Amino acid sequence: MILNNVNYETYTKNYPDKDGYFGKYGGVYLPEELIIPVSEVNDAYMTICKSSKFVNELRRIRKEFQGRPTPISHLERLSTKIGGAQIYVKREDLNHTGAHKLNHCMGEGLLAKYMGKKKLIAETGAGQHGVALATAAAFFGLECDIYMGSVDIKKQAPNVARMKILGARVIEVTHGLQTLKEAVDAAFEAYSKEYKDSIYCIGSVVGPHPFPAMVRDFQSVIGIESRAQFLEMTGELPDAIVACVGGGSNSIGMFSGFLNDPVDIYGVEPLGRGPKLGDHAASLVYGTEGVMHGFNSIMLKDNNGEPAPVYSIASGLDYPSSGPEHSFLMEKGRIKYDAIGDDESIDAFFELSRMEGIIPAIESSHAVAYGIKLAKSMNKGSILICLSGRGDKDLEYVIENYGTRE
Ligand SMILES: *Cc1c(COP(=O)(O)O)cnc(C)c1O
Repeated sequence: MILNNVNYETYTKNYPDKDGYFGKYGGVYLPEELIIPVSEVNDAYMTICKSSKFVNELRRIRKEFQGRPTPISHLERLSTKIGGAQIYVKREDLNHTGAHKLNHCMGEGLLAKYMGKKKLIAETGAGQHGVALATAAAFFGLECDIYMGSVDIKKQAPNVARMKILGARVIEVTHGLQTLKEAVDAAFEAYSKEYKDSIYCIGSVVGPHPFPAMVRDFQSVIGIESRAQFLEMTGELPDAIVACVGGGSNSIGMFSGFLNDPVDIYGVEPLGRGPKLGDHAASLVYGTEGVMHGFNSIMLKDNNGEPAPVYSIASGLDYPSSGPEHSFLMEKGRIKYDAIGDDESIDAFFELSRMEGIIPAIESSHAVAYGIKLAKSMNKGSILICLSGRGDKDLEYVIENYGTRE
């Protein structure tokens, strides 16, 4: 398929280019002391990812430890109730640790091993990435330093405990607003000093090249499996696919399998409390071009051009930008982006739980809410939604704020 001068048959080979650009988005925007460490990761990844030993080992780990392939479930009761398109979900909630994040964390851990590194370094906001990475570190016998703001440490006590139980060091970041942004800065700073023995592991398809490309490649297992499974189940491709977009890793992993197919693709961002700046984190829908955290993409800015404060009920989605590949695919018209608010996502959270016996993560509930709306607007056909994670982590919050809706 060729659309607006992009050939999707050869797309993955040509995007990003060798400097890490998807059109004008992506690249490496870093202080000097980080250029060498990051280009070392790039060189190593470009070589190692072609080695059949690496690929086969990752495959084996995914099967024997992580629980792949994850199934696709046909939501028969929900589809019948809606009366439009048939809805299917790709069950990334059934990964070990309960979400898609292990797809790239195990890849990053294995890469660290092949590079002879001893330690994984990362930041975490809500703690989900930290827990997934701590899991990978324990599996590979690596040290793990997770940088986390004091405010987040207080809010996310169970995840902090999980990381510690898994053997990671949680390093408290006490300056500034003491949240994710400061934790990113602290993790980068530590990495620039310790890169000889360590590797920085990003939590999504964001950051400087090669991270957006590398994390996409690791997450592409979602799309590859989904396409084959869906064809086998139904004999056809889905008419539409849907996924939630925070940094954009589960979505790009899913979408990458279908870019060259006649399939409508929808990315769903968090509209939070509404469209006013500060009330949401729908960076692609409302943002403008800019550089943050080492890459050029579309982002939400404040009056000084700095990353704007963002909000969503789903802590995995409240990031003021998205991966550069999303900005590119939006600009080229291949993917449509829309936003779903807190309340709609909570309704979908309960609907999926009641109708299908699957309690979704609040992040994933955004995709489910959008999928339900889309199904209503179609009177036939099929929709495949990426269910990025399970909702156990959200139960306490939901019960406290919304009850159990008996
Ligand atoms: C972290 C997380 C997300 C958001 O991350 P992406 O990189 O956009 O995929 C979505 N869903 C779940 C369950 C998560 O844990």
